[in-house]
Amino acid sequence: MRAQPKASHFIDGEYVEDTDGTVIESIYPATGEVIARLHAATPAIVERAIAAARRAQPEWAAMSPTARGRILKRAADIMRERNRELSELETLDTGKPIQETVVADPTSGADSFEFFGGIAAAGLNGSYIPLGGDFAYTKRVPLGVCVGIGAWNYPQQIACWKGAPALVAGNAMVFKPSENTPLGALKIAEILIEAGLPKGLYNVIQGDRETGPLLINHPDVAKVSLTGSVPTGRKVAASAAGNLKHVTMELGGKSPLIVFDDADIDSAIGGAMLGNFYSTGQVCSNGTRVFVNRKIKPEFLKRLKVRTDAMLIGDPMDEATQIGPMVSWAQREKVLAYIEKGKAEGATLLTGGGIPNNVSGEGYYIQPTVFADVTDDMTIAREEIFGPVMCVLDFDDEAEVIARANATEFGLSGGVFTADLTRAHRVVDQLEAGTLWINTYNLCPVEIPFGGSKQSGFGRENSLAALEHYSELKTVYVGMGPVQAPY
Ligand code: NAD
Repeated sequence: MRAQPKASHFIDGEYVEDTDGTVIESIYPATGEVIARLHAATPAIVERAIAAARRAQPEWAAMSPTARGRILKRAADIMRERNRELSELETLDTGKPIQETVVADPTSGADSFEFFGGIAAAGLNGSYIPLGGDFAYTKRVPLGVCVGIGAWNYPQQIACWKGAPALVAGNAMVFKPSENTPLGALKIAEILIEAGLPKGLYNVIQGDRETGPLLINHPDVAKVSLTGSVPTGRKVAASAAGNLKHVTMELGGKSPLIVFDDADIDSAIGGAMLGNFYSTGQVCSNGTRVFVNRKIKPEFLKRLKVRTDAMLIGDPMDEATQIGPMVSWAQREKVLAYIEKGKAEGATLLTGGGIPNNVSGEGYYIQPTVFADVTDDMTIAREEIFGPVMCVLDFDDEAEVIARANATEFGLSGGVFTADLTRAHRVVDQLEAGTLWINTYNLCPVEIPFGGSKQSGFGRENSLAALEHYSELKTVYVGMGPVQAPY
């Protein structure tokens, strides 16, 4: 098997196997071929990983932030040196085209290690609070053992986005990747050890929805950070609440992308295509409800169709390929069912809508699809599809489109294309979402906070804000004179 790792889990600095766990087959989505066979963590493996993390964490927390950061920066350098190899693994894991993975996956993981490694010294400072003669100070202290649970769309990035701030803040992590994409995180764990991370601080265990609760409910776990769907988020947050654990929830969305009539149409189409077709549409922040002003609708749809029809679907390992398969057979079935619903509920299929005929029958391919004349009540406009399906909706005026954009339980992100900067700021100010873009879409550099509002979650990843979610404040009041007791 061409991507078989040394073992299923990485615990306490080494690969560990336990064949008692249920088998997890890693399938290359472009061919349906089984490329690795792993085992889900048994309760004994979960126990071992958490015990290793717990053992290693105090000494790590006692190191200076600069020393911790130096190790992360070394890991960033190794990831960049191995970008090609890691990108190929990411493509095998997910089916995403290599032209994407070489620029968006290990590199964004490396950015995260570099950023958090670099701000370690300054980002964890506390404050001094003068109180007359007395004073107080605050310290930012780690939480302890943090659990990361990943989705399958960006497995290496998610493993790093959770690992980097957790580690630099002085925590240990046990990370469980999605059962669909088990391979990438193991390499991240290996690289961290090579960079000098003491063993036990970053552990990876495999598993599915049965394994997650074993981690979340463990008494030695202080925090859970989940990237996943809203229904999973509700379950994980509810379990974590039982023991008052810290939580970060990076969940799904149905984000609006609003194109006003003065927008640069080609730029707006580029943004809408990136925000619907990149990673074969499997991006949480996608702008899947594209509201287009009725005055420019004919021109917008005409140019969008030409550009969508020209996209290259095919072998993800071919540098020219722009659209790879979906991650799994089940996910493609789900998306195809939504496409059928779109047709049945009366949306106009502008292009796509099925399985392409130029690719291998065994891969989970699907055509990039655009529906026009979508209305707010249609299922495809309300539910997260998580595939390459763009819904174009018409609108006439600003107040109307803002109200319709916000009429959703989700609040992950949104975007506005317009030449009128005053309007751009006015509109984003009223959109209910955690991350918004003006005249661009879906750019998430590590410097900016990323995360959702409403049912799309809480907490933030990336930027200095992430450190707040992997640490807590300790306040110390210092009395400088005798205690004034009234008795
Ligand atoms: P999912 O919710 O099915 O699974 C996510 C992870 O949770 C997996 O590792 C899974 O094994 C685990 N899990 C499932 N049930 C669990 C339970 N009861 N307890 C503990 N763990 C459990 O999501 P998915 O299908 O892997 O990913 C797609 C979803 O993720 C989409 O909704 C997408 O929008 C979202 N997503 C969000 C972000 C973000 O940053 N906001 C990023 C990527 C993906």
